[in-house]
Amino acid sequence: MQDQYLRRIEYLRISVTDRCNLRCQYCMPAEGVQWLPHDSILSFEEILRLMRISTQLGFRRFRVTGGEPLVRKGILDFLQESAQLPGVEDLMLTTNGLLLPEMAFDIKSAGVQRINISLDTMDRDRFYENTRGGDVSKVIQGVFRSLEAGLNPVKINVVVVRGFNTDELPNFLTLAKEYPLHVRFIELMPIGVSSEQRSDFVPIQEMKELLGLEDDIPIKDIPGGGPAEYFRPNGFKGSIGFISALSRHFCNTCNRVRLTADGKLRPCLHSKHEVDFREVLRSGISDHEIMKLFAQTVWHKPAEHHMNNEAWQDTRVMSQIGG
Ligand code: SAM
Repeated sequence: MQDQYLRRIEYLRISVTDRCNLRCQYCMPAEGVQWLPHDSILSFEEILRLMRISTQLGFRRFRVTGGEPLVRKGILDFLQESAQLPGVEDLMLTTNGLLLPEMAFDIKSAGVQRINISLDTMDRDRFYENTRGGDVSKVIQGVFRSLEAGLNPVKINVVVVRGFNTDELPNFLTLAKEYPLHVRFIELMPIGVSSEQRSDFVPIQEMKELLGLEDDIPIKDIPGGGPAEYFRPNGFKGSIGFISALSRHFCNTCNRVRLTADGKLRPCLHSKHEVDFREVLRSGISDHEIMKLFAQTVWHKPAEHHMNNEAWQDTRVMSQIGG
């Protein structure tokens, strides 16, 4: 469907849980966050109902995220049922990868086509410290299991943080050179904990300079390219991408809305405006009425985000909003 600015909106990102098996420093405070009580999280049946309704409005692409989606009980059955819904053309998953060594093949069999794996550092100690206890070898194993399982593309999301992983960017470049992996470098967003760390922000231009890619010509042939700008230097099996939410606005081509784990539909990740669908789903109203409200919410998607504004702050962390 179109919104009031004539953007075609067809992509729903769904957070299936606010819980996570990592506590990344820029994402969550050291003491963790208060998990939502079980009954305030949408059931899988409720999510599937909303997905079905959204397909009737023309939504075609769905990304399952969290929190960490793979920690939610019953996730494989949910993925399978989602993949089978009429109108679902593309089912994707974003994960921290810890559980992929065991689950990658089942995820592929369930009908997921592509996967994004978050991996900010390949250094064992740094990873342990930044995630407050994570084991990077599991994630790396998970990356290769995903390739073996035939998930395609496998994208690696690297949030670049000054003083933490800028020296590792060349290692990630090597990863994309040697394997069919799409490594995307992402600007840190002023969300949750990182709102207080704006000095850690590294703009895309600086990342490109660090990698010697500032004069390369971007390509556009990676499925689901979205806001990323891609490069495939000669001899690379994979590619390199850059995703900028701050230094380069892509709001005029934004095609997505988000559903939080507790059932709020957020037309823009970076605007606090959201509509509560949990109560609507539980109120006993018809699919037709829900569809009308869904369409209205999408129609009012803001023209652009305001993250560049110094005063902008969102105190909800990414795992609550749905990363
Ligand atoms: N647990 C899954 C994962 O790790 O991919 C999905 C949820 S996680 C919140 C989604 C993505 O959001 C991760 O790649 C994470 O690095 C990113 N993220 C979290 N906080 C961020 C921030 N302040 N700026 C940029 N990316 C952030």
